[in-house]
Amino acid sequence: MSTSWHTLSCSSVISKLKVDVSKGLSPKQIDARYNSFGKNEITTQAKKSAWAIYFEQFKNPLVYILLVGSIVSGLTGHLVDAIAIAVIILINTGISFWQEYKANKSMEALQQMAAPSAEVRREGRWVDIPAIELVPGDIVKIKTGDILAADMRLLETHNLSIDEAALTGESEPVQKANTVLEDENISLGDRTNMGFMTTQVTGGNGVGVVTSIGMQTEVGHIAEMLDSTEETRSPMQVRMDTLAKILLIAGLSVVAVICLIGYRYGMDWLDILTTGISLSVAAIPEGLPTVLTIVLTMGSNKMAKSNALAKHLSAIETLGSTTVICSDKTGTLTQNQMQVTEAFDVSGKYWWITGSGFDPSGRFVPQNGAQDLHENDVITTALVVSTLCNDAELSNHDGNWAVNGSPTNGALIVAAKKAGITLSALTEKVGYKIVRKLPFDSTRKLGSAIVRDPLGRYFVASAGAPDVMLTKAAKGSVDTQQSLPLLPTRHAEDRKDHDKTTKVANVCFNGVIDNFAQQALRTLAVGYRFINESDIELEAEELEKQLTVLSIFGIMDPPRPEVKAAIQECHDAGLKTVMITGDHAATAKAIARNIGMIRNADDKVITGAELDEMTDHDLEKICPTIAVYARVTPEHKLRIVKAQQANNEVAAMTGDGVNDAPALRAADIGVAMGITGTSVAKDSGDLILLDDDFSTIVKAVRQGRKIYDNLRKFIRQALTANVAEVSVILFAFLCMGPEVVLPLTPLMILWVNLISDGIPALALGMEPEERNVMQRKPRKRDQGFFSDGLGMQIIIRGLALGGLSYCVFSWMLSHNQTAEYAQTAAFTALIFGQLWHLFDSRSMTTLYRIAPFTNPYLLAAIAISTTLSLGVVYTELGQLVFNTQALSTEHLIGIIIGAALPTFALSAIKELTRVKFL
Ligand code: ADP
Ligand code: MG
Repeated sequence: MSTSWHTLSCSSVISKLKVDVSKGLSPKQIDARYNSFGKNEITTQAKKSAWAIYFEQFKNPLVYILLVGSIVSGLTGHLVDAIAIAVIILINTGISFWQEYKANKSMEALQQMAAPSAEVRREGRWVDIPAIELVPGDIVKIKTGDILAADMRLLETHNLSIDEAALTGESEPVQKANTVLEDENISLGDRTNMGFMTTQVTGGNGVGVVTSIGMQTEVGHIAEMLDSTEETRSPMQVRMDTLAKILLIAGLSVVAVICLIGYRYGMDWLDILTTGISLSVAAIPEGLPTVLTIVLTMGSNKMAKSNALAKHLSAIETLGSTTVICSDKTGTLTQNQMQVTEAFDVSGKYWWITGSGFDPSGRFVPQNGAQDLHENDVITTALVVSTLCNDAELSNHDGNWAVNGSPTNGALIVAAKKAGITLSALTEKVGYKIVRKLPFDSTRKLGSAIVRDPLGRYFVASAGAPDVMLTKAAKGSVDTQQSLPLLPTRHAEDRKDHDKTTKVANVCFNGVIDNFAQQALRTLAVGYRFINESDIELEAEELEKQLTVLSIFGIMDPPRPEVKAAIQECHDAGLKTVMITGDHAATAKAIARNIGMIRNADDKVITGAELDEMTDHDLEKICPTIAVYARVTPEHKLRIVKAQQANNEVAAMTGDGVNDAPALRAADIGVAMGITGTSVAKDSGDLILLDDDFSTIVKAVRQGRKIYDNLRKFIRQALTANVAEVSVILFAFLCMGPEVVLPLTPLMILWVNLISDGIPALALGMEPEERNVMQRKPRKRDQGFFSDGLGMQIIIRGLALGGLSYCVFSWMLSHNQTAEYAQTAAFTALIFGQLWHLFDSRSMTTLYRIAPFTNPYLLAAIAISTTLSLGVVYTELGQLVFNTQALSTEHLIGIIIGAALPTFALSAIKELTRVKFL
């Protein structure tokens, strides 16, 4: 389609795209366009087919080595060996293909859950659809915090500003309008009546019609510049890749040394070659990176089931080491089920407001027991003002009351309705007209509307944080000469006399605010000011000042029920929790006390204003003692994150709005809200909370710790096996000298390494969590993977198992058994030694401290491995391929029991001496 949409008027764009703006595209049109334009996606990389994944498994040094081995065996007439090696290659690539395929599938599924959506008009109604289904001609709603999902011509704009840095590099947001532009060839940045895919809406709202999608969009044209499709590897994956390379080199060097010794001993070159090949297989932990990915993916699947969606695997790893969680209060720690429960008006009256939730049945009850709400009461005027500067809508579905809009606004609407005041009555019956809206934002902490009253006068109607409004207020009183003709039930003229008689109490607002805040109520003030018609278009800053405050509302927002326990859990786990809120300090403090975030006198509350006074350095110094940041703006969050990080904390930070994005990006774990979060926030976060619930973060940390533990367990088992296999051969060379007989045939080594060991080790990734996962301190940020003696432990245990296997071998030889029989015995000892060792690898301490049978996957894997290996020893096929001999029952039992010795003995010594490296 044409690229000069910006030169067309709205109406010609619409007719060109053949769409009815009030209804949207018809289902037929949508189908037709979907078929001809395809999906709305940027496709830089073709998706990998299953075959591609399968063949990738062969691109692996290990497979090359094995292939060489198979060919050499074949050429030298060892046909059985050649075929056996080939089969082992197929089984091995098959297993790793299957694992990777599954991991890919579940990653895709996870990504789908995080896929962006768009609000479009379908059959006259606004509905949310996956952005990938947009077609040209769709009518799309645009809101602050959205990331545009296609290129569009703007039809309607209200203070719409869009950050197009991703596309144009221009860092200042662009002000948009729907006016026609003349010049066809102006740059993208100047096409102010267009919105482009992937750009971010930083303010205002509007409506657009989709002009192009997918690869036809401007960003589609420069898709190569996008790095979002690049696969990002987690720090641990990168470290694992490096480790695998180091081990590859180390392993190959050991192999080279052994081959050299064999050569000096005058061994047959073919034996040396095949042994060298098998040993390399034993020494190379080729599967580590793959298995790491698999374990992390399985973990992220589990986390998604408990409502925490990790956007990339590294998030899981970082979660496990998180040391501080900075959380928004409203909606994350609390339920966001706002309800006005108390009010105070400037005539000095306190009110109780009965009812529950968003259900508008309830009453205003004067606290001094005087007569009921009267239309002359100042509170009525306040409710009118709060209704006028409010764009929430109340709806009822099957008896359930819900609010469309912010819950705080919803609470105000419900309260007004309890007094019989509704927006429709005010505009339709009384004759108010809203001429401009200045929606609430967390930085101004005020929301307003410019209204023309029935007498033709203009005024600013505002609601917002009381202390903010009071510092901008001229007087805390009702201006009796200029009162509003307010009541919906009467006409303006009848009301004038009443207003003149309004008594104004001499009020102390701070006392009122404190009173509400002590009860953990959110406080909100309502005020107004008359202005001249010529001032209507002034900046918010100019309009929202010198307001006449009419009343203060106390709004209840109860904590989420699970939050208290979750905070206790954090405390036990050595995790700090910090509350961040735009609310009044006293309210925040009361709630923080209730939920256990403030535990003692040392836990401080500080406000945004105090923060502004501080240097970054000051903040760093005191931030460990701060439990609550109150009256802060989203902009403060970035400083808070940085101060935490300067204290060497691994910080998680929650957020939902556009302004939260920098802090989410800076945090080690940016946590975006799934329900209330904007696309920009979700895009900037590492973790998306599908239920917006604080306790979900704690669950995710718990999972993160468990997954990390399990990776350590898995890697310990896998590497111990490698050390054991190499060391058996090494011991033989060292102890037997030139008359060396290899304790394991090459095929046995392959079997042990690839089959009997791989399956059980993977089952370690499914271990249930350690009993104390949330009772120990978080691990240090810079703590290496092999810290706490793990590296040493792997070597010692590996040598012990290798030594055991060699001892069995040489005992058999010295008791006049054949070399084949002795090899079979060494093979069996090695397998069972590793199976016993599994029970110790399962534990972060020793096997004496854990219940042995709690991981069913592990037990199944052990059963499989045992059966297969006994098959190798006792079936004819096994004996033919592996050159094994059936062991006598006494020998088998003796070996199985003896194989337990290294594990049980070393663990016992570890228990007694408390050294970590055993
Ligand atoms: P938080 O989300 O952390 O609770 P906000 O920035 O949303 O903080 O709110 C800060 C203060 O602004 C509230 O205590 C209240 O007084 C006021 N406020 C909040 N929402 C609205 C709204 N929709 N309209 C007017 N004032 C509001
Ligand atoms: Mg809020």
